[in-house]
Parts: sequence; structure tokens; C-alpha cells
Amino acid sequence: LAKKNREQHCMYYMQEMEDKTLWRLGMIRQLRTDFSENRLELWYQPQLSLETGKVIGAEALLRWRTADGAFISPEIFIPLAEYSGLIIEIGDWVINQACLQITTLEEQGFDQVSISVNVSIPQFRRSNFVDNIIETTKAHKVQASKLELEITENILMDEPQVVIDSLLKLKEQGISIALDDFGTGYSSLSYLQKLPFDRLKVDRSFVNDITQPGQSLIADTIINLGKQMNLKVIAEGVEDLAQEAHLKEQGCHEVQGYYYAKPMPEQDFLAFLQKNK
Ligand code: C2E
Ligand code: MG
Ligand code: MG
Ligand code: MG
Repeated sequence: LAKKNREQHCMYYMQEMEDKTLWRLGMIRQLRTDFSENRLELWYQPQLSLETGKVIGAEALLRWRTADGAFISPEIFIPLAEYSGLIIEIGDWVINQACLQITTLEEQGFDQVSISVNVSIPQFRRSNFVDNIIETTKAHKVQASKLELEITENILMDEPQVVIDSLLKLKEQGISIALDDFGTGYSSLSYLQKLPFDRLKVDRSFVNDITQPGQSLIADTIINLGKQMNLKVIAEGVEDLAQEAHLKEQGCHEVQGYYYAKPMPEQDFLAFLQKNK
């Protein structure tokens, strides 16, 4: 009986694996089609200075709207895009869109507003990644410092020296680098000192319970670490006034979160800037 049970379990397990694989392949096929039919959009979430209350930038976030109008979360499709390699083409498109957006912002007189884009590890591994970005900013004639790349610390897991060299080259050109989701991945603090970062992003999970008694230690420590290292510190996922007050008290420089604005389409973002001038 035990053997039979085991076999049964094994079959369920294999069935589940197969279902998951088929689902994944189907989604990747749909993503490829929808990308080629322009159904990916780049939305913008404002980032504000805590000192002045002014919008200093925005994070560009991908949205996938399928043909039937439903949105599929980036938490679901980004891993699939990475797994399939599609992230390379999509990532190029994102950087291009971001540069177009920077130009639009300059034309409309918002010349203090920068745009941050998320960069996945497979994009970074490509040998011509750095040159491509530099070329793109030049082709669009945008000021390199208006473009920020958000990378996660996991990028340092395989060949740290290669990564450090790439970052230094980007930095040399004036492109800004932010360390995203800081504290949630795997990296050694010693690398922090070797890397040319401009900003540290405090992960939403640490900001989330910042106002619970005794729960702010990690966020506070990250903010302090960033300040000691002369980095700008931005908190993501700020949802209420109490969180903002705590962040201010700790001397966090910048904020991003639903409390200020959710990610929004380009036109709404431009209207938001007008209104908050
Ligand atoms: P991330 O880079 O950490 O982006 C922040 C996420 O937090 C976004 O989710 C944003 O909508 C969400 N968020 C911002 N403020 C709040 C808040 O106050 N409360 C809550 N609950 N959430 C908030 P989103 O847009 O679903 O993106 C998820 C992740 O997908 C991003 O995390 C990023 O890792 C990835 N992603 C998005 N766009 C791109 C892209 O163009 N390229 C790459 N490689 N990854 C991307
Ligand atoms: Mg990000
Ligand atoms: Mg983040
Ligand atoms: Mg995050």
C-alpha cells in the first residue's frame, strides 16, 4: 500500500510539473506576441524629496495589458521574460522609452526630473549592455545623469569584478545607479563600498512595518548606512503619513509609494507634474 501511495504522489507531482511547464510556455508565447503588438506599456511612479515635497523623478514600471484588456503583473511576467530571454528585447525597449520620456520632460520644462528603470540580471550579463545604454542616451541626446538604472544586489552573485567594471563604466558616463530592494538579497556589505552607487532603495517590506513598535530597526539601519556612505536614500512602498513621519525623523532623503501616487500612464504622470509644480 505504501508503494502504491508513493506512486500516486509521484504521478500527481509529475502532472503538476507538466501543467506548470505548459502554462509557462503558453504565457511566454503570449508575451512575445503581445510585445510585438505593442501591448506592453511603461508607467511611471513619482519619487519625491522629503525635504521639499517636490517630484524629483519617477520609476518606470512595465505593464502588460493583454488583448482582452486584463493586466498581468510584472511579478509574474518579468521572471518569464528573464527565463525565456525575452527580457533582452523588452529591456532595450524600456530604456528607449525612458529616454523618450526624459526628452518629453525636458521639453515640458521639468528638467529636474529623472527616470529610473529596472534592469534584470540577464540584461546585465550581455557583453554589449553598457555600450548599448551609452549609445541609446547619446542617440536621444539626453543628459546621462537623468537616467538611473535600478539593479538588485543579487547581480553581484556571479562575477562581481565584471559587474563592478560595468558599473564604473556607466558611472564614468554620468549614468546614475540605484541599489533596489536593498537588504532582501544576497550580497556582502564589503561590495557596497567598492560599487559606484548613487542611491540606496529601502525595500517596501522594511518600510511596511516601520511604525510597529520595535519593527523599524532594519529600515533605520539601512537609512543610516546609506547616509554614512554619502548615498541618497529612498524609501519605497510608503503608504501612510505615520511612515512618512518616521522616515523624515530618520533623515531619509526621498520617498516613493501609494501615499503619494501609484504608478500611472505617461499622460497622467505629466498631469501629476503640472499639478505639483
Ligand atoms: P520594484 O522595482 O521593487 O518596484 C516597486 C514595486 O512596488 C512596483 O510593483 C510598484 O508598483 C510597487 N509599489 C510602489 N509603491 C507601493 C506601495 O506604496 N505599496 C505597495 N503595496 N506597492 C507599491 P510592480 O509595478 O508590480 O513591479 C514589480 C516588480 O517588477 C518591480 O519591483 C521590478 O522588480 C519588476 N519590474 C517592473 N518593471 C520592470 C522593468 O521594466 N524591467 C525589469 N527588469 N523589471 C521590472
Ligand atoms: Mg525598482
Ligand atoms: Mg524595489
Ligand atoms: Mg521591491
